[in-house]
Amino acid sequence: MSKPSILLIYTGGTIGMVKDFETGALRVFDFNNLLERIPELKLLDCDIQAVSFDKPIDSSNMNTHKWARLASLIEEHYNDFDGFVILHGSDTMSYSASALSFMLENVAKPVVFTGSQLPIGDLRTDAKENLITAIQIASLKSNGEPVIREVCLYFEYKLYRGNRTTKISAEHFNAFMSPNYPALAESGVHLKVTRELLWPNAPEKQLQVHKDFDDNVVIIKMFPGINEQVLSSILNTPGLKGVVLETYGSGNAPTDIYFISILQKAIQNGVQIVNVTQCSGGSVNMGHYETSTMLKEIGVISGADITTEAAITKMMYLLGQEVTASEFKRQFESSLRGELS
Ligand code: ASP
Repeated sequence: MSKPSILLIYTGGTIGMVKDFETGALRVFDFNNLLERIPELKLLDCDIQAVSFDKPIDSSNMNTHKWARLASLIEEHYNDFDGFVILHGSDTMSYSASALSFMLENVAKPVVFTGSQLPIGDLRTDAKENLITAIQIASLKSNGEPVIREVCLYFEYKLYRGNRTTKISAEHFNAFMSPNYPALAESGVHLKVTRELLWPNAPEKQLQVHKDFDDNVVIIKMFPGINEQVLSSILNTPGLKGVVLETYGSGNAPTDIYFISILQKAIQNGVQIVNVTQCSGGSVNMGHYETSTMLKEIGVISGADITTEAAITKMMYLLGQEVTASEFKRQFESSLRGELS
């Protein structure tokens, strides 16, 4: 049997950064150097080819066009490789993994995002383990078929569903968590994949790539004292089409008339408003408290236990599909790629 073939896509991020001698700041450097710095890659039992963004970026510079570029790279090479590993800065990795999960409908091969907290050249780097195991995961096959058939994120010994993750630490190697869905696999002495948790994409279905994301959206995080004028001016932004509202607890918000009527007017003007919790785990349950009943009545959509990262990218995806308002609500409240329970 031939060795699995893996395409490594380098977008940038700390994993391939060096310190600027003059300023001391970390900046991206040439990808060819990255491969030279990991001779271990040659020891893996798979064929690895690599492509890089023309200009690698710090992931703070990620945007919808670059997500479309990533999706195009996978689309162009989809039939030539068994799996894809995307090297990406950790800062916005959860957004990108979520975005790509919506862009790549029916993906039946592994697409594994990874990166690191320390550059690959650093003595104490976490980059090597992350990269090597991500490649091994992307190479896993059973009866000739890929084991993983979805967009995932591998970091510090755990493989997560990409659209369930969030970055939780700017310091610890253990930088990500998946608050509402268990890890799909864990790496220790053995690589343990929990098959029942995997997203069951059928290989016979055709990959469909959706690159049209609509970025006329905003995330509003609630806080006590939020000002009427500020809120009203955001919701009256010309062209605004969607709002992810990060509320308290199980989806609660003020019951003040001014607050509810600003949201209601926006909804009447065609703005989609989705309720997600600002807690780091758990679910929205509108109507559970009096403080969320009105939200439900005026037509706010429930994000259930979706992360903010998945909610904003799902919103951009659905708005890009130009679905009707009722279809938007129906699709948002259902699991399209395993992003909510
Ligand atoms: N600032 C970096 C980035 O997101 C951090 C990292 O790679 O972990 O590109």
